[in-house]
Amino acid sequence: MLRSSFYRLPRGWKGFGSSITTPLSYSQWVLRPALSYHSSAAGRVCPSAEDSTIYALSTAPGRAAIAVVRVSGPACVEIYRALCPGKPLPKPRSAALRSLHDPVRTPDDVPLDAGSLVLFFPSPRSVTGEDVLEFHVHGGPAIVKAVLQALPRCASSSSPIRYAEPGEFTRRAFLNGRLDLTQVEALGDTLSAATEQQRRLFVRGTGNQLSKRYEEWRQLLLHARGELEALIDFHEDQHFGESPAQLAISVAHQVLKLKRLIDIHIRNAMRGELLRNGISIALLGPPNAGKSSLLNQIAGREAAIVSQEAGTTRDIVDIGIDLGGYLCKLADMAGLRQSTAPQQGDMDALGSVEKEGIRRAKLRASESDVVVVILPVKRDHNGEARLMTDSEVLRTAATCAANGSELAVVINKIDQMSDSALLEVWISELHAKLAIPPDRIFPISCKSAAGASGDDPGRVQAFLRGLVGVFRSMTSAVDVDSQADLAIPGIPAQSVSNTLLQESLGASERHRLLLQECMIHLESFLEQVETEVHEEGEPDIVVAAECLRAAADCLARITGRGTSGDVEEVLGVVFEKFCVGK
Ligand code: GDP
Repeated sequence: MLRSSFYRLPRGWKGFGSSITTPLSYSQWVLRPALSYHSSAAGRVCPSAEDSTIYALSTAPGRAAIAVVRVSGPACVEIYRALCPGKPLPKPRSAALRSLHDPVRTPDDVPLDAGSLVLFFPSPRSVTGEDVLEFHVHGGPAIVKAVLQALPRCASSSSPIRYAEPGEFTRRAFLNGRLDLTQVEALGDTLSAATEQQRRLFVRGTGNQLSKRYEEWRQLLLHARGELEALIDFHEDQHFGESPAQLAISVAHQVLKLKRLIDIHIRNAMRGELLRNGISIALLGPPNAGKSSLLNQIAGREAAIVSQEAGTTRDIVDIGIDLGGYLCKLADMAGLRQSTAPQQGDMDALGSVEKEGIRRAKLRASESDVVVVILPVKRDHNGEARLMTDSEVLRTAATCAANGSELAVVINKIDQMSDSALLEVWISELHAKLAIPPDRIFPISCKSAAGASGDDPGRVQAFLRGLVGVFRSMTSAVDVDSQADLAIPGIPAQSVSNTLLQESLGASERHRLLLQECMIHLESFLEQVETEVHEEGEPDIVVAAECLRAAADCLARITGRGTSGDVEEVLGVVFEKFCVGK
C-alpha cells in the first residue's frame, strides 16, 4: 500500500524550513491595532470597509513647482466633497482643476490652494485597489502643510483618516492583489536605482514577466503532482494506462528540463546581482606600478596618495563609482612584492605593516569580480624599456582567474617607451602567461593622461571602454544554445526565449535562494524516481509527489502566493526602503 510510506523522507531531504507556517503568523503581522482586515477570496488579507483612509505627501518634501498628495481608502469621496464643496467629482482617471478649501470654514475663506489638479481613481482600478485621490497642489511648503493639515479634519467618526506609514500604499496594493511580491520588490529597487544599468534592470522587473514564469513552473509541478496523487488514490481501484514507474519516469523527463531552465535562471540572477550590488574591481600590481595614479584618473580626484616611494598604500582604498552605467567598487591596494632576506639597513625588507597590506591585497583580489593587473614599463640602466612582470603578481592573478574572477591587464607608463613595436611582443607574452585575450590588455600612460586634454592622450579612456565591455559580458543573460532542448510541454515556448531569459537578470537574491531550494526538492524527486527504477522497484510515489509539492511551494513563496512567513519578512524589508510615495 503506497499510503503507508507517507512519512518516509527522501534522501537528501532538507526539510521545508520556513515554508510550514500557520495563517496566524500572517494575520499577526497584518492585524495591527489601528487596522482591521478580512480575508479575501484569493487568500490574501485585504483592508476592510471600516479601515482607515490614509494620506501622504508622495513627492519629496521642500519647495517645488508642484507637490502630490495622495489619499487612499473608503473616505476618498467624502474628503473630496469636504475640500471641493459644490464641485462635481472629476471623471475617473481624468484631471480636473479645483480650488481646495478648508473643511472647517474660516471667516475670510481663503482657499488652501486656488488651482490644484485633482484626480480620482475609483476602486478597484487604482494603484492600491482602493478609492484613490490625488491632489497636485502648488509646491510651496505652506500650501503643502495647509493641505496636509486639512485632510484629517475631513474625517467623520465612521471613516478615520490618518497619515500613511512608510510603504503603506504599496502594502495595500499587495494585499489587494494589485502587485505581487516580486513587483513590490522591483518597485523598492527602482526607488534605489543609482546607475543606468540598475535602472534598466529594475524597471524591467516592475512588469509581471518573472512572476508569470514562476507561476507557469509552479502550475507544471502541481499538475505533475496531481497526476501522481491520482495514481496513489485510484490505481488499485481503476485501470491506469501507465504503471507508477512509467508515470514517474515521464514526469521525471519534465522535471529534468525544468531543472535546466531554473539553473539558467539562477545563473542569470547571479549575473543580475552584479548590477544590483555593484562590481568589485581590484587593482593588483607591484609597488610603483601606478595603481594609485590610475585610481585617481578614474575617480577624477586625488582619492589615493601617489608617490615614488614603494609601499605607500598599505590599507585598501575603496571608491564607489559609476563606470559606463555600472555601479563599481574600485580598490587600490598595497603593491605585491616578495620579501628579500633582511640585511642590516635594508630599506627593501618587508615590514610587518606592509606584509599585512599585501595579505589583505591578495585576499581582496581573490574576492573581486574583476582583477585589473597593472604592470609598469621601466627603463633599465641601458635606457631600454622593460615590462616589469612581477612573478608574485602574475601568480596571484592566475589564482584569481582560476577561481572565477575576470582578468584585465594594464601596461602602464608607456610614455617610457620609444619603440611601440615592443608592445606587441609583451602582449603576446602576457597572452601566453595568463591565457588572457589580447583585447583585454590595455597599454596606457597615467602620466600622459594627467591634466592633458585632447583625444585620450594616455589611452585611459580606451581602457575604461574595454573594461565596460568586460562588465557587459559578465552581466548579460546566459544564452540558451538550443531552445528545443528546453521545450517543456505545458510551458509556453516564449518562456525559454532569450528575450525573456533577460528578465531573469532582475531576479533578486531572495528569488535565487528560493530557486536553489526548489532545485534541491526537484533533485530529491529525481533521486527517488531514478534509484527505485535502477533497483527495479516501484518508486515511492507518495514521497515523490511530496518533493514536487515542496518544490512548487518554493516558487509560490517567491511571488507571495505561499502561506508562508516569507511574505511578512519580505514586505518588512521592502517597505523599509520606501520614504517617498508612502
Ligand atoms: P602605486 O604604488 O602602484 O600606487 O603607484 P603610484 O600611482 O603611487 O605611482 C608611482 C610613481 O609612478 C609615481 O611617481 C607616479 O607619478 C609614477 N607614475 C604613475 N603613472 C605613470 C606613468 O604613466 N608614467 C610615468 N612616467 N610615471 C608614472
